[in-house]
Amino acid sequence: MNWPESASLLAPLAAWFDRNRRTLPWRAEDLSKPHPDPYAVLVSELMLQQTQVATVIPYFQRWMEGFPDAATLARADADALHKAWEGLGYYRRARHLQAAAQKIAEHGWPADLEGLLTLPGLGPYTAAAVASIAFQQPEAALDGNAFRVLARVLGLEDDPTRHAKSLRHWLKPALETLGPSRLTQAVMELGALVCTPSPRCEQCPLAACCEARRMDATERIPLKKDRAPQKESEIWLLAIRAQGRWLLRPPASKGLLAGLWSWPVLPLEKPVANLAAEPQQPFGLESWRSWPGWTQVYSHRKERIQPLALEWSEAFPVAQLRWVEEETLRTLPMGKRDQRLRELLDTSSQGLEAPPIARLLRRLSSMEAGELV
Ligand code: SF4
Repeated sequence: MNWPESASLLAPLAAWFDRNRRTLPWRAEDLSKPHPDPYAVLVSELMLQQTQVATVIPYFQRWMEGFPDAATLARADADALHKAWEGLGYYRRARHLQAAAQKIAEHGWPADLEGLLTLPGLGPYTAAAVASIAFQQPEAALDGNAFRVLARVLGLEDDPTRHAKSLRHWLKPALETLGPSRLTQAVMELGALVCTPSPRCEQCPLAACCEARRMDATERIPLKKDRAPQKESEIWLLAIRAQGRWLLRPPASKGLLAGLWSWPVLPLEKPVANLAAEPQQPFGLESWRSWPGWTQVYSHRKERIQPLALEWSEAFPVAQLRWVEEETLRTLPMGKRDQRLRELLDTSSQGLEAPPIARLLRRLSSMEAGELV
């Protein structure tokens, strides 16, 4: 690779960061020393995976109050853990964080990058970020922001992740000269504030040496990958209540919804044409409420959701589901979709004109174990 020497090329970026760095609750004052609380760095890095800084700040602060160190987090119970993460999404991160804390509480912090990579939830980016920010080790942390900045500065026109190994090697002298924690966070800060997908090159400390800018190619660098089309599904999201208790699905031990309680769902069927011919209140249904639906977007799929609350005269057994007391409902950790229905329950119904309720109820009455999931 015929790239310019990294330490002198990136020196203006480090100086810019000293003047422009944001105050963040997990950021140390003095970036020339190891971080006084490596656990805070670990928590922030796990939270910042897939999530914006502004969203993370209040979660981080609450988390550090509830679980101030690795030993406390190691002992936390699963519902408390997921409740503290509620709304942040990608709940696997919370479980990884606890598993990492258990390892740290038992064996202490690993000494180097290889050791950090053995902690649950730490891939090459997060392990290098913790090594450099918490422990001042010259390890290059390459995430989407860093790849974008470096691809533009160096004019990499193909997929920059293909150059990961070379970029790590190239960055090492700059990390050693300009300071691992300082330079790692400077690259992150530039990617977050200036070298964004639509870059503000006129404010950039690297404008004079940036290849993408020189080539007028900031639009096409970095190369955009084709995204697979998102799968879509349509569901009823059902809040079913009987005798003061709610019907919920307990947390699975693995998968997307692990650790989270959720409402039962049924695939949404096409509206029934002739509701007049349908019985409206079969088998113990006392009343129902509905609200306008919404679309929930996940990383690889979308769900078109129709929320519905049903009041039953008597509880009925359903395999794999559990009846939960009214006061317990608020305390249980739920994903965003299910939280939204929980909040709707406190609002008045904005009923659909004619939900295909009779047909839905017939399905409920004849459902077999596993159909209502
Ligand atoms: S000059 Fe523009 S494209 Fe180049 S690094 Fe700076 S902000 Fe990014």
